[in-house]
Amino acid sequence: MKDLEYKVGIYLRLSREDERLGESGSISTQRELLLSYIRDNNLIFVDEYVDDGVSGTTFDRAGFNRMIKDCEDKKINMIITKDTSRLGRDHIEFGFYVERYFPEHGIRYVAVNDGIDTFSNSSANDMLVFKSAFNDMYVKDISNKQRSSLYVKKKNGQFVGAYAPYGYNKSDEDKHKLVINEDEAIIVKRMFNMFANGSSLTNICDTLTNEKVPTPSISKNMNIGQNNFHYGVWSTRTVGDILKSPNYIGNLTQCKQKKINYKSKKRIHNRKDNWIIVEGMIPRIIDDDLFNLVQDMFKSNSNRIKGNGITDKLLLRGLIYCKECGHTFGFRAQEQNTKKYGLVTRIYGNCNYWSKRKKQNVCTPHSVKYNEIEGLVINELRNMCNKYIDANSLEDSFKKANKIQAKKDRCNVEILKLQNCIKVLNKKIDACYNDKLDGNITLDMYKRAYNNFITEIKENEHKVNEYKKELYNIDNNNNIDEKQFIQKIQEFLNMNNPSRNLIASLIDRIEITEDNNVDIYYKFKLV
Ligand SMILES: [Zn+2]
Repeated sequence: MKDLEYKVGIYLRLSREDERLGESGSISTQRELLLSYIRDNNLIFVDEYVDDGVSGTTFDRAGFNRMIKDCEDKKINMIITKDTSRLGRDHIEFGFYVERYFPEHGIRYVAVNDGIDTFSNSSANDMLVFKSAFNDMYVKDISNKQRSSLYVKKKNGQFVGAYAPYGYNKSDEDKHKLVINEDEAIIVKRMFNMFANGSSLTNICDTLTNEKVPTPSISKNMNIGQNNFHYGVWSTRTVGDILKSPNYIGNLTQCKQKKINYKSKKRIHNRKDNWIIVEGMIPRIIDDDLFNLVQDMFKSNSNRIKGNGITDKLLLRGLIYCKECGHTFGFRAQEQNTKKYGLVTRIYGNCNYWSKRKKQNVCTPHSVKYNEIEGLVINELRNMCNKYIDANSLEDSFKKANKIQAKKDRCNVEILKLQNCIKVLNKKIDACYNDKLDGNITLDMYKRAYNNFITEIKENEHKVNEYKKELYNIDNNNNIDEKQFIQKIQEFLNMNNPSRNLIASLIDRIEITEDNNVDIYYKFKLV
């Protein structure tokens, strides 16, 4: 099957949903995505089929019908769409084509954004994806219902978690009620006192870990993470969460975390204004004064270290990587008192791999000042853009068109030559066969000769294919890319404050070496 050639039809459909999405769902965006998939996978592009699902309720399937006809006529044997919803109006129609029609007709189907490929090795997994599409609605419905009944319980001050919060046990009489766990409550009190007396979260963690005080997950027998490197180690996150929890002044607090959605088991921290707090529902462990003192200390701490707000807006966010280990860079803002400017905010960056595993000696700090990197990158990018514009205007469009035509001519000549070769080889096979029929050569000799010819034919066919691909690329690739980049580059050069998106469309990645050299990888190339 390795030699099977995929002749691809791309199916583009505009739906009502796309109107809301604007440009990102447009036909031309879909086309761009699918063409680049064809290029990246060296497939042969045969035709495109377009339907407009927006106008009117009875949607015209002219494009789709033509595509199915081309499947039957064997003009195409592979269909690509942006996502599964393009293909059918609903899951039933989708299921018919993907589970029955395409397999029966040997059609390979790919939905690029959904990662679906009916001919991929993990076809069993893929079928699960389809199945789950059918089940989606059903599961989602149940999940919503479950959540709402839990929500009512939480609002009524009933505890509904699997494990009681640290410092408490579920009551034996009523599992929705909490009672104090004396051993844990002692630790809670100690934490609050330590923090109020100036210990940092890290200090508290180190003390508890060194004294081998069981962490909440061990204390509650949660049986998780035994194989984990961090098992038994107190984390600043855990201690911080405990110190901020209104549970300890008797106000039952739930919904501090939430699942991302019904499909995912992963939990994230919920925003504080989404917590469900019912006052006076459980016995208190900490008095109000101590609790409020600790909360105030947290507030002043977070004022001192302003982090995310600034680093989320960095122009080069997400583009900077560590040269040595390939991990991303992390940035943090620090306010500093300077003689010259007074209080200034500086942003420092480090290799994330290093900063997350300082004790394990992986990678090195790669410490940089963000502003220096940004200045340097913008400068370099500007130089590169100017060079690109110069190089592209030197060669006038007439010359360029000639050059492209010459390239295409060369390809076509090569294809003709190879096709002639194939014809000659086929004739030789015929001649050989006649020799065998006439008894001039033995069957063994014939087989050997035949296999040699066939190998040669296949090699030539492969070469023809390569030239066809090249032709396709010349027609579809070069011009689009070039125009696109020239436009973006001009935009960038004309702007004083380029956007992050514009920069990301020109720069692929930025790598920082151990000795603070900056390597920039561009998305466009100087010819
Ligand atoms: Zn690194």
